[in-house]
Amino acid sequence: MKIRAAVLTAIGAAPPFAQTKPLVIEEVELAGPGHGEVLVKIAAAGLCHSDLSVINGDRPRPMPMALGHEAAGIVEELGEGVSDLKRGDHVVLVFVPSCGHCLPCSEGRPALCEPGAAANAAGTLLSGARRLSKNGQPINHLLGCASFAEYATVSRRSLVKIDPDLPLDQAALFGCAVLTGVGAVVNTARVRAGASTAVIGLGGVGLASVLVVPSPKFHERPVIVPVPAVEVLESKAQLRLVHDCVYAALGPVAGPSPSLSWNRNSARGEPQL
Ligand SMILES: [Zn+2]
Ligand SMILES: [Zn+2]
Repeated sequence: MKIRAAVLTAIGAAPPFAQTKPLVIEEVELAGPGHGEVLVKIAAAGLCHSDLSVINGDRPRPMPMALGHEAAGIVEELGEGVSDLKRGDHVVLVFVPSCGHCLPCSEGRPALCEPGAAANAAGTLLSGARRLSKNGQPINHLLGCASFAEYATVSRRSLVKIDPDLPLDQAALFGCAVLTGVGAVVNTARVRAGASTAVIGLGGVGLASVLVVPSPKFHERPVIVPVPAVEVLESKAQLRLVHDCVYAALGPVAGPSPSLSWNRNSARGEPQL
């Protein structure tokens, strides 16, 4: 079927993207679902920084690629072997498909699925297939979703069925921002009630983090710290600016300020407090 999708053909376009327009909405061919796959009519999709990281080259991916990975939609067609969904079901797309059989999946850590990660790196669905093309040339899928599109063919393992009462534009946020922000608090930092926390950046992920930071008193409101916009922490001066804003706002609540170090050669190449 012919659909419209937002396709990136080359990474590393110069910002501002509003002028260079690296994403092009074009008509492409979408094949129907193969075994274990589902055709979804996309109802809502959010723009996440991870999409921008592909555009600017921070996360290189095979080109051309249809972007979008935070989305919700309605099941349109089931591929062979999919028996636990039906046409009309509401679903949220998941940006790491989980095979259910590899070691991390067996250990209850589906987000670390090895075949899922390999498929995402290759720009394919979990099956290894690409269902998007233009003029016979395959187009890669971002994170098995490629959801900046009218329809998406995805692995059944890239979908979670949801309650149809949840508005789909809100449900889309659960595809990335909510699970990333909530996961950072609950699973990664394991913030306990009463702990002092600083959330730097209030996009979708940051706001989701603030919503679930536990408070010993439910009437307490989180302290929102205004920080001047810093696109990327490129210098120690920018890092100090963010650091000083946080500690000035939190005051004695935050306790003694940690020493500030700048290590661009750390394992992740990121500045560290
Ligand atoms: Zn995301
Ligand atoms: Zn797995």
